[in-house]
Amino acid sequence: MIKEKLNRLIERDTVPIFCIDIKENTNSNVLKAKKIKKHKYYICDYCNEKIDLEPKQEERNGGKVMFPNSLTKKREYRTSIMHQMFK
Ligand SMILES: [Zn+2]
Repeated sequence: MIKEKLNRLIERDTVPIFCIDIKENTNSNVLKAKKIKKHKYYICDYCNEKIDLEPKQEERNGGKVMFPNSLTKKREYRTSIMHQMFK
C-alpha cells in the first residue's frame, strides 16, 4: 500500500496545485457584484488535507518537499506535505 503510493508519487513530475474560486461579499453599495478571488492550495499526499497557499510561506501549514534520488534510489520525487506529518 505504502509502496504503491510511493511509486505513484515518484512517477509524478510536479506537485499539483488546486484552485477554487472564493466569492467575497463587497461592502460597497455601488458595486453589488461579488468579488471572486482565486484560492490556491496543495493537497497533503499523506492525509489529503488542504495546504493553503494563501499565507506567506513560513505561515503555511505545509508545503512542497523534494526527495533527491540518492534517497529514493530511483528518481527524485516531489510531495506536498503538512508540517505536522513530520511529527
Ligand atoms: Zn497531512
